[in-house]
Amino acid sequence: MANQAEPPTAYRFDTQRVRAGYEPKDHNYAVSPPIYQTVSYDFRDVENAANLFGLREAGYLYTRIGNPTVTTLEERVKTLDGAAGAIALASGMAAISYTLLNIAEGGGRILTSPYLYGGSKDSFKKIYPKFGIRFDYAQNIESPEKLSAEIRPDTKAIFVESISNPNTVLLDIDLIAEVAHEHGIPLVVDNTVATPYLYNPIAHGADIVVYSATKGLNGHGNVIAGLVLESGKFHWQSEKFPQFSEKYYTLRDINGSLRTFPEVFPDAPFIQRIRFNYLNYFGAALSPFDAYLAVIGLETLSERLAKQSYNALKIAEYLSSRKAVEWVRYPALKGSPHYSLYERDYPNGAGGILSFGFQGTQEQREKLLNSVKLFHYHLNIGDARSLIVNSPQTTHSELEADEKAIADIPENLIRISAGLEDLADLIADLEQAFQAALI
Ligand SMILES: *Cc1c(COP(=O)(O)O)cnc(C)c1O
Repeated sequence: MANQAEPPTAYRFDTQRVRAGYEPKDHNYAVSPPIYQTVSYDFRDVENAANLFGLREAGYLYTRIGNPTVTTLEERVKTLDGAAGAIALASGMAAISYTLLNIAEGGGRILTSPYLYGGSKDSFKKIYPKFGIRFDYAQNIESPEKLSAEIRPDTKAIFVESISNPNTVLLDIDLIAEVAHEHGIPLVVDNTVATPYLYNPIAHGADIVVYSATKGLNGHGNVIAGLVLESGKFHWQSEKFPQFSEKYYTLRDINGSLRTFPEVFPDAPFIQRIRFNYLNYFGAALSPFDAYLAVIGLETLSERLAKQSYNALKIAEYLSSRKAVEWVRYPALKGSPHYSLYERDYPNGAGGILSFGFQGTQEQREKLLNSVKLFHYHLNIGDARSLIVNSPQTTHSELEADEKAIADIPENLIRISAGLEDLADLIADLEQAFQAALI
């Protein structure tokens, strides 16, 4: 089993996050990746145009489906994750929706973890059923040996988060991947909270990885972006996925014969099908400027995630010893139900997100949130700045009471995303807020 100590390519992780996917000599020797702020690209001549459209020559046509700055981001994250293909999109939600539509278009079921980002859950309930795609929340996601029984004939994929938002539940991705593969279906992992620095889903058997790059990947709270990556190992041409055996006019060869995505793009048919169908026609293109910001954010990924993991663990320890705290959830905390998975799979730390149960009245809980001075009170996670939020009343407020119970999000849950500030200042801020709340 690979981890960050065994990089998928020659250079190690910390070298790749500042160098992969970009060669200065291909860009007038510019050291920092330029922002290609252009819609279109001149054709050299009529033959060049025909070759680009006929996929006989690689190159850029129109920024909705490809742009050199966006390519730098795609290639960099692809290298960090050891993937065969990557596509950057305008948001994490676009990454999730294009992925699930590309898998289950025409109808089918997705088996998911109950521990998911609120926006994912809301969309699964409200939008996908209108496209014939339904979701089953697995009872046994934490006991994968029993998971097989929950896969139905029309289940097309398993979808989980590596570190769940807001609960920081860790799952045995290796075992879940085995179950998926026994049934001929892919495992999709939302690796947003972990980022490639903390966890490599493909090395643990995932077929597709999705990111909200809005969060820790970029890490500065100034960009909405998403990515989809593909391992290149999943066999898509089966009767479960007829769309991958479909021949397309847009993929015709020089003699006019129609071809399938796996024929034309054997290394990354899933990603290219997203690019040529979903990105091309549904259009959630990432802007070159936002791609540039994400590339710059990635350059400090390791230092940020390491410090956030440190700050989060120390805050978790402080909260554990504090009166008026009912429980603390953080995988690296001794006594956490996920501590053994954390020790096995997360050599670089458990990330910046933790949650705790506030023991007190609703009024006192609100006073606590209104009293923090250094912590921001807002949505988002993975920012350089620390933030605190009452998830059940905000990010997960659209869930009904029974859904919150299944997702294990009690009403008194407060989520923290540790930033890069001085730890002593953060703890002092929490302490003064507790004192203000508990008067
Ligand atoms: C924020 C988030 C998303 C959605 O990403 P956007 O970039 O806001 O669209 C998806 N999954 C997880 C785990 C998230 O935290």
